[in-house]
Formats: sequence, structure tokens, C-alpha cells
Amino acid sequence: MTDEEPLAHFMAEMREEFPRFAIVPKRKDPLSEAIDVGLRLITLNRMTSYMTRFHTVIGDTLYVPPGWDDTPPLDKIITLRHERVHLRQRRRYSLIGMALIYLLLPLPLFFAYGRARMEWEAYTETVVATLELRGRAAAKSHALRDHILGQFTSANYGWMWPFRRQLERWYDALMRDLGL
Ligand SMILES: [Zn+2]
Repeated sequence: MTDEEPLAHFMAEMREEFPRFAIVPKRKDPLSEAIDVGLRLITLNRMTSYMTRFHTVIGDTLYVPPGWDDTPPLDKIITLRHERVHLRQRRRYSLIGMALIYLLLPLPLFFAYGRARMEWEAYTETVVATLELRGRAAAKSHALRDHILGQFTSANYGWMWPFRRQLERWYDALMRDLGL
């Protein structure tokens, strides 16, 4: 079995749950370009990789950076599983509710508890998916830990939860829960 098969299987499952799900390249997409400009403005140009490194789900659409097509199928599944959590959150809270919680509550930057809560849930799925698809060593790796914790404390998500010790406790608890 090639890795393409689990990806095809996953995509079928995804379309069953979210029939309007679509993947759109960010490059040359006007909405993505507008968001990129906005993010550069509010982060004083510290967040400059929205178009090139981030996967972003809005509504039923996943906007992907260049290189998506060349991403190994299992890594695509890991990303898609993270994004599926956001699709479910949107279904739970509605698009407006999700936008409010994700972008504004209680602050858009530095203390974005709503966004942090949603990303904790989604990054938990990233780790679970990594464990299932790439194995224990990958799920336990420092690289993954540093990557995930960095998302919360850096400009990437507007410094959404810059409380490193608390994040480390969350991550350690997650490792214990997964028996890692
Ligand atoms: Zn996310």
C-alpha cells in the first residue's frame, strides 16, 4: 500500500463530513493576499509568512501555501486532521462565533485566549495524528514540541499565549496522556 491510499481514504472521510470542503492555493488568491497585508500591519511586519508557510481554514476552504502538492501524503493527513478540528469548531460555534472567539476574545494579540483554546485542541490532534502516522519517536520529538509551543508564543499567531511555562505544562500533560 502506498501512502496515497490513506490520503485518498482520509479525503473521502473529510468530504463525507464536510461536503463543501475544498483546498485552494493561497498564491494569487485575493482573500489570502488581503489577510496577508492585514497581518503584516497588525504585527508591525513580524508575521510575514502567512502566504508561504501557513495552512488556513476559512469556512469550508483550506488555503494552502506553495509546496502543498509536493508534501508527503502522511504529512498532508496530519495537517488535514489539525484543520478538521477547526472545521468542527466552526460547526460548533458558527462562522461568526468562531471568528469572534478566534480573532478577538479577549484580545486579538498577546492574550488571545479564545484562539489559544482552539489551537490547543487542534495541536493536540496534530500530536495524536503524528503518533498514529509517524510513530512514537516523531510524536515525542523535540522538533515537534518546539514547533508547536513556538506557534503559541511567536508572531505566527499574534503571540497568542506567550506564557511558556503554562504551555510546557500543557504539553507535558498531553505527552503523559498519550503514554509518551
Ligand atoms: Zn490551527
